[in-house]
Amino acid sequence: MRLDYFNEKFDAIVPLSGGIDSTAALYKALKENPNKKYLVFRIDMVHGTSGHRTTREALATEQILNWLEEKGFDNFGFRELRIDYSALGMMPPVWDSEVVNFAASLVIQAKPEISQFVEGAIHDDYLEKGFDERLDKIEKILRLHTGKSLEELEFFFPLKDKSKVEVMRLLPQELLNLTWSCRYPKIVGPWEFGRCHECPQCGVIDKVIEEYPNEFPEGF
Ligand SMILES: [Zn+2]
Repeated sequence: MRLDYFNEKFDAIVPLSGGIDSTAALYKALKENPNKKYLVFRIDMVHGTSGHRTTREALATEQILNWLEEKGFDNFGFRELRIDYSALGMMPPVWDSEVVNFAASLVIQAKPEISQFVEGAIHDDYLEKGFDERLDKIEKILRLHTGKSLEELEFFFPLKDKSKVEVMRLLPQELLNLTWSCRYPKIVGPWEFGRCHECPQCGVIDKVIEEYPNEFPEGF
């Protein structure tokens, strides 16, 4: 059973988009710290191009949390927030991670006992130009809006030494199959979403599958 948002005190907060990295960060944290209580939260980011993405990510998140519950994980609660900035046009004026951390700061204000933020950045992210600056900025967003010092709120990066393929290997295949990382899901048949194979996230996954052909579920 999930922990009750209103009655529980949580140790840490974990953003979950339903993608591979955030799912792996959550899975690893829950598994390795059974006595810690995690507040999982999802932001329904509605903007000019979010389209099917929010629907598909919501579906993935729900299935992932149900799977974790079925497997006996009982050290998490769940909360969902919607931020609609579609009035600002097609092109979101902010990075997803900035919106996520701003929303996280609201949750931490409501749950001030939270002393850890679980961040799903993986090793490959650090190789990207400008990633350190982005990380620094989103940490500042969180500190500014929560007023919490380094001692009061710690950042935890469970995947920072892992490459994409290592992160994918870390997840049981059943769980990996429930994740959704594509930014522009397409309707590929009646009642069926498929990956676009064109967005950067699909590019990364397709490259891993090409390099390790028999390792991951077919049609993933
Ligand atoms: Zn895609």
